[in-house]
Amino acid sequence: MLKLVDNEYQIGKVSVNELTKTYGLPLYVYDTAVMKSQYDKLKKAFSNCDVHINFACKALNNINVLKFFKTIGAGLDTVSIQEVMLGLKAGFKPDQIIYTPNCVSMHEIGIAAEMGVKINIDNTSILEQFGHEYGNKIPVCLRINPHIMAGGNINISTGHIDSKFGISIHQMRHVERIVETTKIKINGIHMHTGSDILDVDVFLRAADILFETAQRFPKLEFIDFGSGFKVAYKPEDYSTNIEELGKKLTERFKEFCRNYGRELALHFEPGKYLVSEAGTFLVKVNVLKQTTATVFVGVDSGMNHLIRPMLYNAYHHIINTTNPKGTPRIYTVVGYICETDTFAWDRKISDVSEGDVLAFQNAGAYGFAMASNYNSRFRPAEVLIHKGKHHLIRQRETMDDILKNQIEVEL
Ligand SMILES: *Cc1c(COP(=O)(O)O)cnc(C)c1O
Repeated sequence: MLKLVDNEYQIGKVSVNELTKTYGLPLYVYDTAVMKSQYDKLKKAFSNCDVHINFACKALNNINVLKFFKTIGAGLDTVSIQEVMLGLKAGFKPDQIIYTPNCVSMHEIGIAAEMGVKINIDNTSILEQFGHEYGNKIPVCLRINPHIMAGGNINISTGHIDSKFGISIHQMRHVERIVETTKIKINGIHMHTGSDILDVDVFLRAADILFETAQRFPKLEFIDFGSGFKVAYKPEDYSTNIEELGKKLTERFKEFCRNYGRELALHFEPGKYLVSEAGTFLVKVNVLKQTTATVFVGVDSGMNHLIRPMLYNAYHHIINTTNPKGTPRIYTVVGYICETDTFAWDRKISDVSEGDVLAFQNAGAYGFAMASNYNSRFRPAEVLIHKGKHHLIRQRETMDDILKNQIEVEL
């Protein structure tokens, strides 16, 4: 998170200038203090429940970030066997990891099950195969699709009718048949309706559906509400009201537990909420290009480093850290990739010159994690700021990385 102190931008008390001089550009910078304060806010909002927060590591998978979340008491949410292995390497115990695959082979799910991680199943075919294989020996959680649209963007909403995620609430009779026949034990009920919950009441509607479904399964240990908490991307933007959600959901959860006859644990698995605002992406302005239509700011990065604006039409606020108090002008910020990789149209930014350092805010989630080597470019370095000190946690790539795994043959 950027702060302007004495006319100089800082991230976690370290000046942007020092960071760029030390590590070069482009550069991802993460601040553990922001991760911790987000974690604490969520934990506090649900402090009347036995709440467990599992960091969705697909948002930001640097092993140091995983280790940091482990030290503050989080578990881990994973979507691939490789993420499970990364989590184990970071020191998480298998039972602190939940594995929520979608359209993954039964073979891979079997490997995860035998590693002892919590298994979340989102398909009746897999549930049946898993039941035949493991019977009552390994319990599983069920990922339900409550058919509720959480946010505005259909590509990041996973609860709608056409979604490939989850087992429909209308398939519960079939699920019961599989459970009765294979004796498989259901230990959790889960939903993840996708990013950007705009409305607490929509979330609560989905929660009620989940509670109703949960009543069918008498041996539950936890209810998992996934994630999708919205964070503010624009200065005037709003975020999910966690305090309000905490108050209202706690009330309903307690009532559900009373009816159910037992206190269950309450799980969440946020990615974006925990790391989005903790991350800043710093780039250098290569060129200004005046055309008949606009003034382009061309930076030393592109869709290869931060693809969210091109993929989801995501907004990332951009600040000119070199010129904090300049006159604002209107720019179109683009990358150097040979594609139309526009970061932002018609953006008001403090007067930009070639060589200036721009900062993309909210770059912690799905930034580096989605980066590629397209155009044979190197992926950026990553820096972690922890207790006022900065640490290089991933070196900038080199030509060796581009050529790694390529096999030159005689032609
Ligand atoms: C991606 C994902 C999350 C995290 O979503 P955010 O919007 O980043 O909070 C949580 N659970 C599952 C199953 C996911 O696939």
